[in-house]
Amino acid sequence: MLESVLVANRGEIALRVIRACQELGVRAIAVFSDADRSAPHVLAADEAYRLGPAPASESYLRVDRILELARRSGAEAIHPGYGFLSERASFAEAVEAAGFVFVGPRSETIAAMGDKTEARRRMQEAGVPVVPGTVEPLVSGTDAVRIAEELGFPVVLKAAAGGGGKGMRVVRGKDEVERAFDAAAREASQAFGDGAIYVEKFLATPRHVEIQLLGDAAGQVVHLGERECSIQRRHQKLIEEAPSPAVDGELREAMGEAAVRAAEAVGYRGAGTVEFLLAGREFFFLEMNTRIQVEHPVTELVTGIDLVKWQIRIAGGERLDFGQADVTLRGHAIECRVTSEDPAHGFLPATGRVRSLLLPSGPGVRWDGGISTGVEIGLHYDPLLGKLIVHAEDRAGAVATMRRALRELRIEGVETCLPFHRRAMDDPDFQAGRFSIQFLEQRPDLLEGRLSSNARLAAALAAALLEHKRRDGFHPRTATGFREGSSLTAWQRSGWPWSNGG
Ligand code: ADP
Repeated sequence: MLESVLVANRGEIALRVIRACQELGVRAIAVFSDADRSAPHVLAADEAYRLGPAPASESYLRVDRILELARRSGAEAIHPGYGFLSERASFAEAVEAAGFVFVGPRSETIAAMGDKTEARRRMQEAGVPVVPGTVEPLVSGTDAVRIAEELGFPVVLKAAAGGGGKGMRVVRGKDEVERAFDAAAREASQAFGDGAIYVEKFLATPRHVEIQLLGDAAGQVVHLGERECSIQRRHQKLIEEAPSPAVDGELREAMGEAAVRAAEAVGYRGAGTVEFLLAGREFFFLEMNTRIQVEHPVTELVTGIDLVKWQIRIAGGERLDFGQADVTLRGHAIECRVTSEDPAHGFLPATGRVRSLLLPSGPGVRWDGGISTGVEIGLHYDPLLGKLIVHAEDRAGAVATMRRALRELRIEGVETCLPFHRRAMDDPDFQAGRFSIQFLEQRPDLLEGRLSSNARLAAALAAALLEHKRRDGFHPRTATGFREGSSLTAWQRSGWPWSNGG
């Protein structure tokens, strides 16, 4: 077992990793930006170190400083969480070169899966079905037109280095291709410093269903079933669940086997996820995420397997002590991502100070958060405040528990997307499991409630302003959120303002 882990992240995922370390008896070391001085992850860690002067949005991306703090704290390993540096092969490489253990896959695996055309090529070779399209970047707009016509419209142009929906364009007809190609390439170079674009067939109403994997250093890979993540706004997940209402045992086995093959093809080590689009009973590889995902708790609740503890164990050289046949699913779990985004104003990121926080509890309820009373919510980081996760015997039970927990959860001082989640849980189509990735596009009433045309106009203007700000260096996808957890009451008892023990 590792002796100590430095958590190169913030918010709910930093707290989640710190909790896992503490339960395993591993020394948990936090790092923090000045804006996060008294954030819950800092208070919860055994030790905490200041990242030092840098714009808040950049602090957690400072590789040299993180390595320096790892040396200074005597850390044995570094856990990257998700977002920030977690999928940068160069970071994994630097960590290992500096003599620390990287809690995640080998840097070559991250690099191979981070290039989506390379990933598609490898998956094809491994016999994993990929969405029809190219495995080489397109060379020009004319090339794009020719291949799009061969595939048949609609198609989607995607950035090879992509993430967060950036550099992605759906194209419905021939005359749109060249313009879309130029726009996607421009956006991709700006966002990723790499303008390579490839093309895929655009599937009309698929579901997004992904398979969770664990692989150990000895080469054993198991899958932990699927997560349904079709409830998305602008390609960002809002509600996830396990199992998927669209997947039965036979399909689960087929998708699980394909995902394991995918992982074996790249010598996968650690926790990872293979994302698929599911159309009827046909599924297609979308991408592989070589890190822990936001929605991992729903899998933990239905399998009883702690994914973050296993990440740490595997990094410490332990082998999986169970096989595929030991993985069984029990009941149903749902997660709602609670963000500081205001559904009444087109999901615009909101700011403010958390004045009060009432967390739900009772049977089947879990809160993975990173906020606490008094915390300031700004625009530096991802708007994720926390995740409300429930578990019950079946899907209807889980929906009922979520409705009840959403009634109990109160966050005051900053607008959140909770009204959206309450509407979604009350919706007959959601309750029946009848949805695809297009669901929220078809249901603006659920997403935004009833907007007056003035409110729509105001939201559009504000969104345009925010886009400006984002170009100035605010990257929601590369940052992560704030949070809190069940130890809130202990922190409250210890008094406010808290002193930083680190
Ligand atoms: P990113 O890495 O930028 O998030 P992904 O390739 O993972 O991009 O796709 C994000 C989302 O976009 C998917 O979850 C799905 O909703 C939609 N999407 C991607 N590819 C397709 C496709 N070929 N057809 C239909 N929808 C797609």
